[in-house]
Amino acid sequence: MPFSKLGLSDPLLRAIAEAGYTTPSPIQLQAIPAVLNGHDLLAAAQTGTGKTAGFALPILHRLSQHASGANRPVRVLILTPTRELAAQVGESVSKYGEHLHPRLKTEVVFGGVKINPQMMRLRGGVDILVATPGRLLDLVSQNAVKLDKVETLVLDEADRMLDMGFIRDIRKLIALLPKKRQNLLFSATFSEDIRKLTTGLLVNPIKIEVAARNTAAETVEQIAYLCNKANKAELLCHLIKTNDWQQVLVFTSTKHGANRLTEKLNKIAIKAAAIHGNKSQGARTSALSGFKAGDIRVLVATDVAARGIDIALLPHVVNYELPRSPADYVHRIGRTGRAGEEGQAISLVSHDEVGALRLVEKLIGAPIKREQIVGFEAADVAPPMPPEPPRAPRPPRNSSQARRPSGNSNNKPRPARGNV
Ligand code: AMP
Repeated sequence: MPFSKLGLSDPLLRAIAEAGYTTPSPIQLQAIPAVLNGHDLLAAAQTGTGKTAGFALPILHRLSQHASGANRPVRVLILTPTRELAAQVGESVSKYGEHLHPRLKTEVVFGGVKINPQMMRLRGGVDILVATPGRLLDLVSQNAVKLDKVETLVLDEADRMLDMGFIRDIRKLIALLPKKRQNLLFSATFSEDIRKLTTGLLVNPIKIEVAARNTAAETVEQIAYLCNKANKAELLCHLIKTNDWQQVLVFTSTKHGANRLTEKLNKIAIKAAAIHGNKSQGARTSALSGFKAGDIRVLVATDVAARGIDIALLPHVVNYELPRSPADYVHRIGRTGRAGEEGQAISLVSHDEVGALRLVEKLIGAPIKREQIVGFEAADVAPPMPPEPPRAPRPPRNSSQARRPSGNSNNKPRPARGNV
């Protein structure tokens, strides 16, 4: 079904055509009519599915159907977990609304930068406000903005907002909204906490679930290079050079690790920049734009900082370390192979991460190809997923196993053997 059949106005269809979209993505097909009809929405969808246009287009359509009040109160509030996602959502909303007449005003506010310029920008009123929860509460407490005319609330990446500890801020903000409003909630995962939040929030929501694009992963080639921990930096340099990768997003598990790797890459003239929570907003923005422009070849990021980064057609994503949670692996590799293009998700897996790799395979329901690169072979890595061994009978209570002191418990990570 083409976009033109979904009931969107001509100025929006024009913006869609200019963005180069020809057919709606599955989530757009379901979300656009539901939101146009004023329903609440509970959508299981992650970045890369086209969810932003899925809510932004029908919201813009509805808003432009009737004029704003005299002092332009906030009529749509979009909450996001990170500054980057807020900025990107704001950009998308402005882009899709470009041809609407009269124009709708969109503003983006987030923490980590001075509050005063944001207060100034809010002064003339805005129709659509995209915000991170903490900064918005600050602005409300300073009377810079009122939320009592909000018609539609969007919680984008709700699971991440809860992970980042925003639940109390979200609840405080919801208390400031009119009781009667439309609520749209997007989340990649549905934990007990999300369920609790949705129960009080959504009224007869339309439920939408789109397959996490990359669990199917037809367009993403996934490879795990088994290697020694100490050789990871050299292996990464080798891969970048020999394959002549020009744009690589690399994930590390810590900010410190991101900095160290960035320094190493820059030392051997592979231009790299790090993006993580300790970087100033200016540094993050310039790293991201340098990366998008091709001036920076390798962007090294932590999971939180990278969440929501929207870079079209990223060809290579590298897990320098596997994430602690297998769901994060799916989020990470969701950055590549977009829009039907081929992408590659590479994981550098050392001995102590083989367990984590198996958990990822369990989650995505498929084995990940394991390879080794000559000169960087793992000294001591367990073989690929062996078939599940038959369950051993429980040892008798008085066996030597049962009497083992707890310090030797099998649950504790063992120190790595050799230099792995
Ligand atoms: P999102 O999931 O909202 O982060 O969108 C992921 C990417 O898909 C963005 O780069 C969008 O510009 C792009 N996109 C959204 N809708 C479509 C569409 N219908 N056709 C092609 N690309 C799209």
